[in-house]
Amino acid sequence: MNTISFVDLKLAPEILKALVESGYTIPTPVQAQAIPLVLEGCDLMAGAQTGTGKTAAFVLPMLQKLLPHASSSASPARHPVRALILVPTRELAIQVEESVKTYAKHCKLRSLVVFGGVDIKTQTPHLKTGVEILVATPGRLLDHIEMKSVQLNQVQILVLDEADRMLDMGFMPDLKRILALLPKQRQNLMFSATFSNEIKKLSAEFLTRPKLIEVARSNATAENVTQKVYLVEQADKHVLLAQLLRGSDASQVLVFTKTKLTAGRLAKQLQKEGVAADAIHGDKTQLERIKALEAFKQGTVTVLIGTDVAARGLDIDQLPMVINYEIPHAPEDYVHRIGRTGRAGASGKAISLVSPEEEKYLKEIEKLIKCEIEKETAIVPRHAVKFERAPRGEHQERSHAPKAGNSPSSRGLEKLTPPRGEHAERSHDPRPAAPKKSSHDPWFDKPYEPSSGATPDKQPEQPAGKPKKEVAAIFVRRPS
Ligand code: AMP
Repeated sequence: MNTISFVDLKLAPEILKALVESGYTIPTPVQAQAIPLVLEGCDLMAGAQTGTGKTAAFVLPMLQKLLPHASSSASPARHPVRALILVPTRELAIQVEESVKTYAKHCKLRSLVVFGGVDIKTQTPHLKTGVEILVATPGRLLDHIEMKSVQLNQVQILVLDEADRMLDMGFMPDLKRILALLPKQRQNLMFSATFSNEIKKLSAEFLTRPKLIEVARSNATAENVTQKVYLVEQADKHVLLAQLLRGSDASQVLVFTKTKLTAGRLAKQLQKEGVAADAIHGDKTQLERIKALEAFKQGTVTVLIGTDVAARGLDIDQLPMVINYEIPHAPEDYVHRIGRTGRAGASGKAISLVSPEEEKYLKEIEKLIKCEIEKETAIVPRHAVKFERAPRGEHQERSHAPKAGNSPSSRGLEKLTPPRGEHAERSHDPRPAAPKKSSHDPWFDKPYEPSSGATPDKQPEQPAGKPKKEVAAIFVRRPS
C-alpha cells in the first residue's frame, strides 16, 4: 500500500495547489517512484502502462525543475524550450499538453502542443512567442525545425512518451534527427507500456545510466480489467457487437477495429440502429477527430470506434469498457488497447470478438500476457442476421458451432452460415452484380438495409445516449 503523499515528494506549493484542485490525493505507484528520481536528475526508463498516472509522473518533477526559470516577461528570449515531450500521436499530444496546463496552472511556465494534420502556419506564431514546455509529434517538430520556428539548444529535459509505439510507428529516424539537435547535457526520461528488446536497445542508445522503474509486470495487462473473449464468426460480429452494446450498462465504450474502413462503416451502421456512435480514424480531419473525441468525453457519443493509431493516447477518465471488434495481430497492441479502460484504479471490462481465423493471434496475446482469457462461444440468432439461410444440408461447419447433443435449438438458435458463395449477396438486392472487392467481413460488402419491423430484436428508435439494455437475442454458451 502506497502511503506517500505529494507533500512527502517535496513538490512546490504551486504544483501541490494544482494537484489539490485536480482532486489528486495520493501519488500513483509510478509517480511515487519516478518523481524523486527525476528530481535527483537521473535518466529514467519507466515501464508503465497507460492509465497508471505516468503523465503526471514526468510532468510534475519537470515543472518543479523548471520553476526557477518561470517568468512573466513577454520577451520570447525569456521563454526558450527547456523541456521537450515527444509523443507518437496527435491525440496523445493534445492530452499530454492538457495535463501540463492543468498541473502548471499556478506556475509561470508556458506550454504548447504541435502536431501534424493542421496548418503549420497556425502554430508558428505561438511557437515564436516562446514556450518552456513543448509537446510534439516527431514529424511536425521536424517541420518546425526546418522552418526555423523553433530552437532546441536549451532543452534540458527530454521525454519520450509511449516510446514503444513510436518505434512501432517508424519514428526512429525522426527521433535520431531530433535528438542530434539537442544539447548533449540533458536529462532523458523514457516511458513505455511494454519492454521489448527494441525498447531496451533504444534506452541503451539514448539514456545515460538510467534508473529502471517498472510499475506493473512487464507486458502485463491492467489488473483491474476483466477480460473476456467471445468466439464468433467474423460475419456475425456486427450483430453481436450491437447486442453487446444494447445489453451493456457501460456509459462509454471504445471499440477497436483493424481498418479505418471498418471503423467508419460500423459507426454508420450503429448510428442507423439508434446508437450514439462515431468513428475516429486517420481519414478524418483533425477537427473531426477532436470533435468526435470531445463528444465522447461529454457523453453525447457513447460508442467511439477507432483503429489502433487513432485511438492511441485517448485519455477518458473511467472508461468502463473496451471492445476489440477485431483483435490486433501484434499482441502488444492488445495491452495498449485494454489499457484504455481500468485507468487510475477504476475497474474496467475488455471484450474481444474473435473469429476462427483470429484464434492464432489470441494465442499470441495469451502468451504475452501470461494468462488465459475466459472464453465463450457466441451464437447469433437467425433473425438477427440478414443472410439467406443455407438450404438444408448445405451448412458449412463452423468451428465455434455448438457440439451435438447440446443443441440450443429449443431457444431458437440456428446456424447462421449463408449459402456458399453468397456471403455478401442478398436475394432481393436489385443492383446488378458488380465486380466486388471482398472484405474480411462479408457483412461490409452488403448494401445497408435498415432493420425491418419484422425483426424481433429490432429496437425502437432510441434517443442518442446510453445504449439500451437488451441481451435476449444473444445466446452464449460456454464450451464444454
Ligand atoms: P495517465 O496514465 O497519465 O494517462 O493518467 C491516467 C488518468 O489518471 C488521468 O485521467 C489522470 O488525470 C489520472 N491521475 C493521474 N494521477 C493521479 C492521481 N495521483 N490521483 C488520481 N488520478 C490521477
